[in-house]
Amino acid sequence: MTRQTAKPDYDVVVVGAGFAGLYMLHRLHGLGLSALVVEAASDVGGTWYWNRYPGARCDVESMQYSYSFSDTLQQDWHWSERYAAQPEILRYAGHVADRFDLRRDIRFDTRVTSAEYDEAAVLWHVRTDKGDAVSARFCIMATGCLSAGKMPDIAGVEQFAGPIYHTGQWPHEGVDFTGKRVAVIGTGSSAIQSIPVIAEQAADLYVFQRTPNFSVPARNTDMTPEYESSWKADYGARRQYARTLRSGIIYQFGTTGALEVTADDRRGVYEGRWTTGGIGIMAAYTDLIFNEQANDTAADFVREQIRATVRDPAVAQQLLPDDHPIGTKRICMDTGYYEAFNRPTVHLVNLRTAPIEAITPTGIRTASQDYAVDAIVFATGFDAMTGALLAINPRGSHGVALDTAWQDGPRSYLGLMVAGFPNMFTITGPGSPSVLSNMIVSIEQHVDWISNCLAWMGQRGATTIEPSEAAQEEWVAHGYEVAHRTLYPQANSWYMGANVPGKPRVFMPYIGGVGVYRETCDAIAAEGYRGFEIDAATASSRVAAE
Ligand code: FAD
Ligand code: NAP
Repeated sequence: MTRQTAKPDYDVVVVGAGFAGLYMLHRLHGLGLSALVVEAASDVGGTWYWNRYPGARCDVESMQYSYSFSDTLQQDWHWSERYAAQPEILRYAGHVADRFDLRRDIRFDTRVTSAEYDEAAVLWHVRTDKGDAVSARFCIMATGCLSAGKMPDIAGVEQFAGPIYHTGQWPHEGVDFTGKRVAVIGTGSSAIQSIPVIAEQAADLYVFQRTPNFSVPARNTDMTPEYESSWKADYGARRQYARTLRSGIIYQFGTTGALEVTADDRRGVYEGRWTTGGIGIMAAYTDLIFNEQANDTAADFVREQIRATVRDPAVAQQLLPDDHPIGTKRICMDTGYYEAFNRPTVHLVNLRTAPIEAITPTGIRTASQDYAVDAIVFATGFDAMTGALLAINPRGSHGVALDTAWQDGPRSYLGLMVAGFPNMFTITGPGSPSVLSNMIVSIEQHVDWISNCLAWMGQRGATTIEPSEAAQEEWVAHGYEVAHRTLYPQANSWYMGANVPGKPRVFMPYIGGVGVYRETCDAIAAEGYRGFEIDAATASSRVAAE
């Protein structure tokens, strides 16, 4: 007897309406599947809906940090700057939602609180904070890698009399810091972008730094018609080329190792890239992420620029990154970050010498001093890659929860699916290139792969898919091996889970490169989804029912 699956409310439930959820929904429409997208925010955009802090902008050029799936979209849309600011990127997300008629299937202001796989009925039950309970054959997590904000556990936060902000949950109406004494805690990308802008307004700005980071100048400019049309004339070929690259981003790629050229030649190359701006400095040589000595040449160059920019040598010294190879934490890209420390109103507070002890009603107390401030900005980052997934903590076969399956760190096959969680996909999940790439390139690749997989299943009348434990183990071991060929695991980065106390230390993204990874995913699909078990979950539910 063939077991019939119960009739679900939808073919697919998608969680999240950022760039991943939006494109996923568009593809599901194309497949003729019924879909519901559930989104905690009041509108589309994900990262760009939430992160409205001053100075927020992309660090991948906008001609590249944009969708490629529709040629008319990429030809029609005009970016006003080399690196678009958050409001423009958010407008773009809204335009995409309207243009492809996506809003009708998105339920906003609704947070998914649980997702449970029902083995007998072969469907997912998804529940929300609004009391909805919906069922679907497939559950697709488009919950984002950097969407679960992290507030550090500092004593006394609730006592502070003034406003407290997190860069990832910035008020929509903006914040006027004019004449205020402001504290920014953190010196990652969000802090480094916001500090120069806040410094223009604040009477005094205290930057609480625990670990100095490498930052390179953006040299942002208005989009020129020549640059825009050079891209648009050749968009298809350039997008295709980007998909084959390690990071999915087109830079001027060096072809030699840093140690194969003279010190003078290297300096010329680094100076050229520093003047052009952007994170392409890491593409100057082929060995910067593999060879420590090679990496030192780039790191030393950037440290020299910091010393040359910051007038007070004692402040400059404290801003020099010294505990990780350059690029092994996401390199920051700024507009006037180091220059901001030349303002008499900007004060660096070095938490290495005196850590924060508490937040008081009037400010921040470190081991050596009380800092009176009117507002505190937490630029303290995210519970990256796993935070949003574990907040839902889906339950798969036999009621096993994701936090149990991932107690030693995330395990997945290709970062797309997790063994024991049939019909649940993760877009840019841990184990895929995701955060090490132009994320829109990686999002499109995952969405296309999932869509093709759903179409393939439909053609065969298959009902379930999940990875085998063996294929997953092999992928996890491969990911570990590739990561440990690089310098990345040396850094206490959020890639390693090091920013969240108690989180397992595992290098979470796949560092084999976007191009190689895509080839692997395509080959696996072409071989009939090698490593995946098709209809195994349906078969086991049939046995259980008989
Ligand atoms: P998100 O944009 O994070 O969207 C996920 C959505 O899921 C969110 O809207 C969230 O509200 C929703 N969600 C999560 N959990 C639930 C739940 N339980 N219920 C309902 N809804 C839920 N990447 C680059 O490649 N280049 C850049 O320049 C770049 N700049 C960045 C700047 C900032 C400030 C940050 C934080 C990240 C940046 N990134 C950048 C990474 C960025 O996150 C991705 O580029 C991309 O926007 C991710 O899209 P997404 O749809 O996968 O996830
Ligand atoms: P982040 O890189 O994790 O930085 C968080 C900062 O807060 C770090 O300096 C950290 O110090 C500090 N911090 C955390 N807890 C602290 C505590 N208890 N006391 C003192 N300091 C504390 O987070 P982020 O800046 O939000 O960036 C996250 C990622 O988002 C980036 O890496 C990037 O991928 C993306 N992003 C991109 C852009 C862009 O340019 N387009 C902008 C923003 C964000 P330690 O290092 O010592 O832990």
